[in-house]
Amino acid sequence: MEHLLFNKRRRVEKKRFPSLKTLYKEPKLKEFQFKFMQRIIVTKKELFRYGIQSDDDCIYCGEKNSIDHTFSDCFSQEVISLFNVTNTTHFNPSMEEKLFDVTSEPFGKNVTKKFNYTLLFMKYYIYTNRLQTSSILLADFVNKISL
Ligand SMILES: [Zn+2]
Repeated sequence: MEHLLFNKRRRVEKKRFPSLKTLYKEPKLKEFQFKFMQRIIVTKKELFRYGIQSDDDCIYCGEKNSIDHTFSDCFSQEVISLFNVTNTTHFNPSMEEKLFDVTSEPFGKNVTKKFNYTLLFMKYYIYTNRLQTSSILLADFVNKISL
């Protein structure tokens, strides 16, 4: 009986998921954001801990890596600086805002949206490159997002 109930629940979830996905413009990115918020994504530090990677160095700067490192000091600082120069803004997001979204709109709604999109794309970019254990480059990132 419990087994049946479980199956039924799974079918319902399966049905619900695609309709949710179609609500978003970039399903891949939104799916990533969801995973990110659920802390499913792994950093090299975690891979190292589980013996999958041979080191836990940042793929951008070579320092010891973690989620905090990646999104507070390293590549994200360069992306934010570049965004500010390109868009004549002065975004200086907190760690929480970098991880989840800037909700205040000191430079207008559209540019804030663009900024949040850039940060999301950056997280996705870092994540996919990390999985492929390839290095990340600012120029390559800019080329992909076309800032
Ligand atoms: Zn780094």
